Parts: sequence; structure tokens; C-alpha cells
Amino acid sequence: MADSRLQRNSSVATGPSAQTATKTSQNNPSYLFPFLDLRAQFATIKDEVMQAVTRVMDSQHFILGPEVQALENGIATFLGSRFAIGCASGSDALMLALLALKVGPGDEVITTPFTFVATAGAVARVGAKPVFVDIEPGTFNIDPNLIKPAITEQTRAIIPVHLFGLAAELDPILKLAGEYRLAVIEDAAQAIGARYKGTPVGTLGTMGCFSFFPSKNLGGAGDGGLVTTNDPELANSLRIMRVHGSRKKYYYEVLGTNSRLDALQAAILRVKLGHLDTWARARQRNAERYRALCSERGLEKSIKLPSIPVDRYHVYNQFTIRCSQRDGLQEFLRGRGIPTEIYYPYPLHLQPAFSYLGYHAGQFPQSEAASQEALSLPIYPELREEQQAQVVRAIAEFCGA
Ligand SMILES: *Cc1c(COP(=O)(O)O)cnc(C)c1O
Repeated sequence: MADSRLQRNSSVATGPSAQTATKTSQNNPSYLFPFLDLRAQFATIKDEVMQAVTRVMDSQHFILGPEVQALENGIATFLGSRFAIGCASGSDALMLALLALKVGPGDEVITTPFTFVATAGAVARVGAKPVFVDIEPGTFNIDPNLIKPAITEQTRAIIPVHLFGLAAELDPILKLAGEYRLAVIEDAAQAIGARYKGTPVGTLGTMGCFSFFPSKNLGGAGDGGLVTTNDPELANSLRIMRVHGSRKKYYYEVLGTNSRLDALQAAILRVKLGHLDTWARARQRNAERYRALCSERGLEKSIKLPSIPVDRYHVYNQFTIRCSQRDGLQEFLRGRGIPTEIYYPYPLHLQPAFSYLGYHAGQFPQSEAASQEALSLPIYPELREEQQAQVVRAIAEFCGA
């Protein structure tokens, strides 16, 4: 995703991430308003952010250091996790977590094909084999009932993804992991602040992986990521792996990589962390407004709104509806100036990059159906009520409601 060629040309499998940087986002004149308006957010915190940037520039301390440590402490406190280790991206957070567990060639890791490419990509990058399991249609998250049959002698870990900001059904996953002595790496890239039975995601498994890509709920001014864990040995290992495998300067116990969080990013993220709860509540308010507006027009018959199990706190990185005529709806909305995005148009088991795994169409029907039917509507905190009314009016027009 750091590859800008990929962002420009790609018609496949970009994340909430890559899309932001390119087509619909900031000020495309053919839309009434942006899909995600980061400028509106920046306007509310500009002074605080510029002060933080100036502080780092004055210090000329750019790599790790006190700003990164303060952010790590802030996030550990916010989530209630013992350790938090910043790194260069959410993709690297996943890779570092796997490296810390010494997952590699010959090992298998279970996850879903309905996620951003980085989830399974990290598994492949450490030389292990991604093993896919289908999703639940209601939550878009891994179906815990399908995990057990996918476990083999080679399985080392499960990566549940808390997609769109909603926690996966963790209890049965943690129970299975306990029985089979597997690690659970939570991909919480889209879900910082989301809760499962009252507990923040990313603190329930062996490790939690977060992304600070600009379009995530806690987004930096560039790439960034973080891993949480309560295990001191894993925390140590993560800290070593992000600096080339070295604890003592120029002495290498293991081979690591360069995956550090910049002090500038950390300083900016510290400012934004202070607003995260407020922003999550604004996203929830917007979700409630969509529900009310859709219900007024009786749209539940034509589109399916996101469902939330009662034991979960959804932070709505995306508000993703389902519609059997999704492509037609998106095209119609585009004509009415309403921006939408498709996360994700192709499930990972059908991607050329994963063809070597030997999967074929029809193997994961729920993921395949979600790829055909899912459509994400604008949901950012600064979205206004009249803009949401425009969205719903246009959907109603399409549905003839
Ligand atoms: C964004 C994202 C990642 C990767 O994070 P980056 O910081 O963009 O590398 C991984 N998994 C999921 C589910 C994501 O949405």
C-alpha cells in the first residue's frame, strides 16, 4: 500500500485505506461532499496538531523516543492493555506479531477472505500459509463455527478481523484457541475503541494489531501502526523485531526489520487520541440517524443495515449496508452526487496474489455474496444530518420507496 503505483492503477482490493488517498476522497467536484472529510476534522484540531508538530521539529528527535513512548502509554491506558508497541503500519503490526510468535514456513494461520489484503498478506510474508474460513453474513466477521474444521497439526494462530469497527465473536474463538494451544492475533486495524462484552478489542487475544492509516478512526498524517499485548516476553520480542532484532546497538540476536513509528506521527496521534471517544460517539450518532432515516422510508425491505449483536460496541469505521443490486445502487448514487465505497469487491481467495493457495469460487459463499452486496456509506464524525438525508433520499429514489 505504500506503493503509489498500486493505489493509482488498482481496481482490485484496495482498503478503506488506499481509496482515501485517491479517487473519491477530499474534493472531487462531482460529489456533493466527500466520502471521508479529513479536512473538516483537521480544522477542529489544527492548533493542537501544529503545536505538537512544532514541538517535535524543535526537538529534532524523529525516531521512537519520548513522543512514541507517550503515545504507547496513552494507548495502553486507553485500551487497558499492559504493553503497546508502535510500528510503521498496521500491515507491519500483523507481521511483527507473527514474527514475535515465530510463525513461519510450514505453519498455518486461520483468517477470513473478506478483509483487507494485509491480514492474509502478513501471514504469507512471514512464509506461513493463510487458511481461509467464511464469515457470518450479519456481522461480516469470521464465523466461529467454521474454525474447528480448519484446524490442522500445522495451525499456529487465528486472526479474527474486527471488520468495519465491529468486534468479531471472540469467546468461542478464544475457547478453541485455548483447547488447541493456538495464538489469537486480533486484527483491530478498523476497530480501535470497539468493545466486546465491555472489553476493548485488541486486549482479549494474545496480541492486538492496530493501524493509524489516515482513514482509520485514529488516523495519523501518514502510515503508522501498533501492537498490544499483556505478555512481557512478546512485548520484548516486538520491541526487538521493530529495530532489526537488536536490543544492544549493532548486536543482533535475531533477524528483525525496520518498522518504527515516527515521533512526528506519535505527536499528532497523541492529540487525536484525546478526541477518539467523542469521534466514535459521533459515528454512532450518524449510524443511528441512518437507521432512523431509512426506517422512516421503509427501506429495510430493500437494503440491509449493519447488525450489531447486543454485547458489542461498534465504532463504525464503515457503515456498510447490503443490497442485492449493489452495483446499480452505487452507480445511481454517483449520479446523484453521493459518494460510496465498496469494501471489498473481491474476496481474498479469488485474488491472483493468493491463487497459489488453490482456492476456487464457491468455497466461501458468504464472503463471495458480501463482495457482491456490500456498500459503505459516508459515516465520518463531521458528516451533517442534511447530508445523511441526501444519501437516504437518493437510496429511496433508487428503491422506488
Ligand atoms: C488498514 C488495515 C490493515 C493494514 O493497515 P495499514 O496501516 O494500512 O498497513 C490491516 N487489516 C485491516 C483489516 C485493515 O483495515
